[in-house]
Amino acid sequence: MREIPGAWRRVVTGAGLVGSDGTVRPTIFAEMSALAAETGAVNLGQGFPDEDGPFEVLETARAAIANGVNQYPPGRGIPDLLAAVAEHQRRFYGLTLDPARNVLVTAGATEAIAAALLALVEGPDDEIVVFEPYYDEYAAVVALTGARLVTVPLQWPDFQPDLDRLRDAVTDRTRVILVNDPHNPTGAVFTADVRTLLVELADRHDAILVTDEVYEHLAFDGPHVPLATLPGAWDRTIAISSGGKTFSTTGWKIGWATGPAILIDAVLAIKQWLTYVNGAPFQPAIATGLRLPDHYFHGIADALRDKRDLLGRGLRAAGFEVSVPSGSYFTVADAAPLGATDAADFCRTLPRRAGVVAIPLPAFATPEHRADYATLVRFAACKRVEVLDEAASRLAALSR
Ligand code: PMP
Ligand code: GLN
Repeated sequence: MREIPGAWRRVVTGAGLVGSDGTVRPTIFAEMSALAAETGAVNLGQGFPDEDGPFEVLETARAAIANGVNQYPPGRGIPDLLAAVAEHQRRFYGLTLDPARNVLVTAGATEAIAAALLALVEGPDDEIVVFEPYYDEYAAVVALTGARLVTVPLQWPDFQPDLDRLRDAVTDRTRVILVNDPHNPTGAVFTADVRTLLVELADRHDAILVTDEVYEHLAFDGPHVPLATLPGAWDRTIAISSGGKTFSTTGWKIGWATGPAILIDAVLAIKQWLTYVNGAPFQPAIATGLRLPDHYFHGIADALRDKRDLLGRGLRAAGFEVSVPSGSYFTVADAAPLGATDAADFCRTLPRRAGVVAIPLPAFATPEHRADYATLVRFAACKRVEVLDEAASRLAALSR
């Protein structure tokens, strides 16, 4: 690594992106998408849909651009989107929000997570508790804040945390418990016992819950339950989501944080110096999306459940063992029955062996726990049926 001082070194080290020769490596998503482009493989790596979202949503953005909605929006977001987020929280979760005080629009969930953690960490003695494997941003941003990352491992095949390990991880040093549910990369949806314990522990140790709910409408076994709806949770929870997954607009980067005014103001205090604002014409479009009828939201979960099943059948037929996800874009499969001993090697060679790209699970784990996930691989199901069929028929070659 070049000897330029600064926080970037902590971040790339925290994110596990220092190459053996000391250079900075791209994220696992960038690496694997580049490999897909280079080899012409079917890309079941990076989680983005290969179809456009609802016409009304796209049309609202086109109209907004045509009608001159192209300058800085207000710092907290346009009033119509703030109102639409509040309506959405009431319609789906029975939460009553003041759009002017309890909602903040951000540059995707990514910025909301970064701003929330930067806002809440005081210094290097603070700890942030996350489940592992984790979405790669978490370790990078925790490193940026200078806090200590404390992880609770999720184990194959159901990826539910051990409650005692969770109890041990949360202490008076814990500033934030960062909870992603439905969970990327495992597809787990946490049980009611886990949710209750998370709120109890946050209360006992005076920690803030930051929830990453970007897959809120992609839960397969029943409606999503936000932690903020549990008794006693609202006052200490910053809930984060975004329009990317729900409306198949991952490139628009319209996210939001909701919670008590005092916490939302703290996030705003940081957010306004990161991007200030973003996505003027996309904000009314996401407001349109959030107001779509219930059947739209049920429809996307039903469609993705079918795709999960299709992908799962293909993976089993190819010889993988499969963990059946309860939500999210993703399915984790064990490549050990196919002779794999190292998921990263398996994923780097899979495009040339079978014409498919996937993501090695150890990329989402701390060095201490990578061995727990040594042969596990994440596949994205958020692709057209014919693409999943093609991937299945290519993967079938592995077992021949
Ligand atoms: N959290 C999780 C768990 C994700 O999977 C993603 C993106 N795929 C994000 C956050 C980032 O969301 P956004 O694109 O809205 O920034
Ligand atoms: N969230 C997407 C995934 O997990 C990728 C986002 C990214 O590339 N940063 O696949």
